[in-house]
Amino acid sequence: MKYENMLDRLYTALPEKTKKRERFEMPQAESFVQGTKTIVKNFGAILKIIKRDEKHLFKFLAKETATAASVDDLSRLILNGKFSQEQVNNLLQTYIKQFVLCPECSRPDTKVKEKQGVKMLKCEACGALSTVKGL
Ligand SMILES: [Zn+2]
Repeated sequence: MKYENMLDRLYTALPEKTKKRERFEMPQAESFVQGTKTIVKNFGAILKIIKRDEKHLFKFLAKETATAASVDDLSRLILNGKFSQEQVNNLLQTYIKQFVLCPECSRPDTKVKEKQGVKMLKCEACGALSTVKGL
């Protein structure tokens, strides 16, 4: 293949990659306040999208909101406190940026891998293995 052709290929390949990156939409928490509690009704669905352990996200949210939390039979998260949907979503986004998106390429296709007792973020898009504090 000629060098010029290779360059052409590179350039045409670039927008495709950018498009893919934009396709990831941050999952949005759907929550409402009931009495003194906040219920995140799609907690189970969010976990499926971000492919993370229930306990890890659960602990994070409980810690960040400084409340006791629980998960009910319908996979809904219940926080003992009143929080707006916006607050819940801000926390969820912080979590995703910190523990789900690859620090190298910002793609969400990551998995938690344990290597010699240390949990690391393995990116399936770019192959990077990153150390993330608190993973
Ligand atoms: Zn990556």
